[in-house]
Amino acid sequence: MDYLVTIGLEIHAQILTRSKMFCGCSADYADAPPNTHVCPVCMGLPGALPTPNRRAIELAALTGLALNCRISHTNVISRKNYFYADLPSGYQRSQYDDPLCVDGWVEIEGDSGPKRIRLTRVHIEEDTGKLIHTNDGGSLVDFNRAGVPLMEIVSKPDISSPEEARRYFQKLRQILVWIGVNSGDMESGALRCDANVSVRPAGQQEYGAKVEIKNINSFRFVERALAYEIERQIRALKAGEPIVQSTRGWDEISGTTVAQRTKEFAEDYRYFPEPDIPPLHLTDAWIDERRAELPELPDARRIRFIEEYGLTAYDASVLTDERTVSDYYEQAVAAARTRGVTPKEVANWLTGEFFRLLKETGESPAHAAQRMRPEYIGEVQELLNNGVITRTSAKEAFEAAFREGRSPAVIVAERGLAVIGAGDALTDLVRQVIAGNPKVVEEYRRGKLTAIKYLIGQVMKATRGQANPQAVQQALEQELAREQTAC
Ligand SMILES: [Zn+2]
Repeated sequence: MDYLVTIGLEIHAQILTRSKMFCGCSADYADAPPNTHVCPVCMGLPGALPTPNRRAIELAALTGLALNCRISHTNVISRKNYFYADLPSGYQRSQYDDPLCVDGWVEIEGDSGPKRIRLTRVHIEEDTGKLIHTNDGGSLVDFNRAGVPLMEIVSKPDISSPEEARRYFQKLRQILVWIGVNSGDMESGALRCDANVSVRPAGQQEYGAKVEIKNINSFRFVERALAYEIERQIRALKAGEPIVQSTRGWDEISGTTVAQRTKEFAEDYRYFPEPDIPPLHLTDAWIDERRAELPELPDARRIRFIEEYGLTAYDASVLTDERTVSDYYEQAVAAARTRGVTPKEVANWLTGEFFRLLKETGESPAHAAQRMRPEYIGEVQELLNNGVITRTSAKEAFEAAFREGRSPAVIVAERGLAVIGAGDALTDLVRQVIAGNPKVVEEYRRGKLTAIKYLIGQVMKATRGQANPQAVQQALEQELAREQTAC
């Protein structure tokens, strides 16, 4: 029997703001000692009054627009009530009835071609604190993260396989980092996801029971956890066992999902409007301002790179994966054009040598770009196009420019990388090689014309590869002919 798989993801993304969602505490707590970024508001002390973070709401709306959502004019912050040690107030400020962004979609590479994953909503909330479990069985709590602005991005159950779930998660990360609303740092939990999955026999109309896998913080884990969970559910269905709506955790060591608790329903949280924050009314003018803030998105730029610069689909996709690389490429193209260097030639340097060197140094593109100025790429290619240097020397000059942050033209001059052209220097070398190889010269004179290949090789060796082979052959032929007439 065939089974249908239905997956929906809830992605939690911290919003990149300086302060927390409802107080002035710094949201940059990464290296801070525990419980130093706290105040009465984010500690949930009685009587402390929250003030919404304007920038967090702007960035969440920007996210909604990037994900093709509609922005709601009226926004209500609600209290989601539950007890947990990392939640000092006993409720989380979130949104329930009136989320900031509704509907929307994200296009991904689906299992059978391009596919739109529809979104239900993007809402704002606050992050919880963090529990640290010690080796002796104790637990510690750190409230530095409590109250950090968070967005929850909820998809419709449009995802049909673990691979699609991974691609959707990757696409969302690309967009969030690209528009500057999230750090994309999954290891620290700044971006994480819960996956809902249900399985039902083909032909059955109603969905199977929904199982939620909590707090997955890597692309690989989302794929593996879902694959495991789908297998588990199919096995249970085949054995006639019921699937219980529940929450499970992914255990990366055993490679299995583990039951945590039976799933609570929305009613269990007793949501009600936060009495300390009046509804937020967003005007059309305010929404238009957000729209004006939205940069060109990666998909649009990828298509433009193909159309405007004639790049292959592969190169265009590699060069629009990250915004810093993409911006750098465009700066390099603009500088290279004044030298008659094509966008394709610039792309080849980036996808080849530039990426190879980044891998070697382990740097971020932004860091390397501080030394390797975008105009250097056109410079090195122009020297190559004009026959001033060979391809081997061009690579040497490029690498030196990358490592030292100096102009390739200066490096070529300093290291004497310029091709040895026709002229006295080459003629001298040619004469030396002819004098040093009388046997080969004799063979050539007797009519074995291929013997000249050996002589060319000797001259190239003497120039350490810096001569143009055609120029060497020409000089050799001239010199051999001249000597023959002289005899
Ligand atoms: Zn605070």
